[in-house]
Amino acid sequence: MNNRREFLKTAGLATVAVAMGQNVMAAGTKSAVEKSTGKSLTLSKKKISVDDQWDVIVVGGGPGGCTAAISAAREGAKTLLIEAMGQLGGMGTSGMIPAWCPFSDKEKIIYRGLAEKIFTESKKGVPHERANKLDWVCINPEHLMSVYDKFVTESGVKVLFFSRLASVEMSANDTIDALIVANKAGLTAFKAKVYIDATGDGDLAAWAGASFKRGNEDGVEQSSTLCFSFANVDTYNYVNGPDLRPNNKNSPIYDIIRSGKYPLLDPSNPLLCNNLIGPDAVGFNAGHLELDSTDPYAVSQGMITGRQIAAQHLEALKEYQPKTFGGSFIVRTASVLGARESRRIEGDYTFTIEDWKQRKSFEDEIGRNSYCIDVHKVGFVSPPDYKKGESHGIPYRCLTPKGLKNVLTAGRCISTDEDTFGSLRVMPPCLVTGEAAGMAAVHATKQSKPDVHKVDVQLLRKRLKEEGQYFL
Ligand SMILES: Cc1cc2nc3c(=O)[nH]c(=O)nc-3n(C[C@H](O)[C@H](O)[C@H](O)COP(=O)(O)OP(=O)(O)OC[C@H]3O[C@@H](n4cnc5c(N)ncnc54)[C@H](O)[C@@H]3O)c2cc1C
Repeated sequence: MNNRREFLKTAGLATVAVAMGQNVMAAGTKSAVEKSTGKSLTLSKKKISVDDQWDVIVVGGGPGGCTAAISAAREGAKTLLIEAMGQLGGMGTSGMIPAWCPFSDKEKIIYRGLAEKIFTESKKGVPHERANKLDWVCINPEHLMSVYDKFVTESGVKVLFFSRLASVEMSANDTIDALIVANKAGLTAFKAKVYIDATGDGDLAAWAGASFKRGNEDGVEQSSTLCFSFANVDTYNYVNGPDLRPNNKNSPIYDIIRSGKYPLLDPSNPLLCNNLIGPDAVGFNAGHLELDSTDPYAVSQGMITGRQIAAQHLEALKEYQPKTFGGSFIVRTASVLGARESRRIEGDYTFTIEDWKQRKSFEDEIGRNSYCIDVHKVGFVSPPDYKKGESHGIPYRCLTPKGLKNVLTAGRCISTDEDTFGSLRVMPPCLVTGEAAGMAAVHATKQSKPDVHKVDVQLLRKRLKEEGQYFL
């Protein structure tokens, strides 16, 4: 089998095209399982316990969810953070991404406030990096987990691990009454005044009825990757050897693919990003998978195929770079699949590629972003990157889902178009939107009937600036 896409198709992982005519959907959309079986079941009346002591509940403990929860707690709210895994950090820890996207606009740091504080602490886990380096700084995932643990617990946030949002109960079309969460205690209903969706996939907002978009006009989404790391790499030869990334024309990835021995490596869109994450340890963001990250069967198969892809990288690099990787082994593969793209929840404003090209500023901006349009899709041509000192504003309205009063989004599920999603999806801007969402949620709780669309944005901006955030 010489074509990776053919292989993935036969493995049940055909390219994701989630559109059905249009790519705008709402919560009533059938799940992947219901679509395949055509069957559904209405639950019989079931009494479950209620925990209603919270001002703000954040679902998802990735970069967006952690800063949302920390900022809500620091702003005075009784805050609960619900996370499906047993650690905080999302893709940066459970997902094993080996590096932070740039924190600077090539002149100065622009993701500030909590983002900068977390970034600064995370650098202590990679002492081999230059102290003043701001861009593409490596991540030691175990250290980063402890950084998030410290920030979150010190702020007073209560954390609930191994707990997954399973359903949303509405008190009206525009207002959430409770979240139904599944964990070892069974099902529990959690109530708050305001809820923040930081699930990456927009589970909470979508299940509450928000409209969302997926992929491009044909519904095709960015590829996914299961990250992994090798130990016992020869650091000297690694540091002095060829750049393995495909943007180096002499990267061994091309010979590896041409050899035909490693069919799971993507010949049309090779990916071999790698970083020294510690002594003799290299983290990889390598290989592509095409799947729908909201389809549990596809994700399950993706984990299995992802581990096979990691094994093929090990074999290939042992063969083509024996001095560096000859004695290496896979020390860990990620415990979550790296889904770059899924739902983009429609907000009061959708950030567009024209806004990005114009480096637009907004009266309600709550942060700045300067990252390139980074789209993992065959044939996609990105516009030129920003020059030194250039950035655009991130409007608050991208965090407020249309038609829902007590819900905010943070992280990658905020309201963008397909192209600018490629820029705003990465961790530094996710940390920034999280901090703003957490603070805005608390301001909304002060209203007699919380409405995130009616938050005093100038007060929000003032408070964010006091906490050190950067915007115009
Ligand atoms: C393969 C890959 C490589 C990347 N490379 C980089 C890079 O080099 N640098 C960079 O800065 N960014 C990179 N990114 C982008 C970035 O990591 C993510 O887009 C970013 O982490 C999104 O942050 P988030 O907080 O929105 O979501 P996530 O980091 O995805 O976190 C979401 C959290 O919510 C939890 N969750 C999800 N659903 C539920 C639920 N129903 N109930 C309870 N909990 C739930 C998850 O377990 C997870 O912890 C990469 C992304 C991918 C996929």
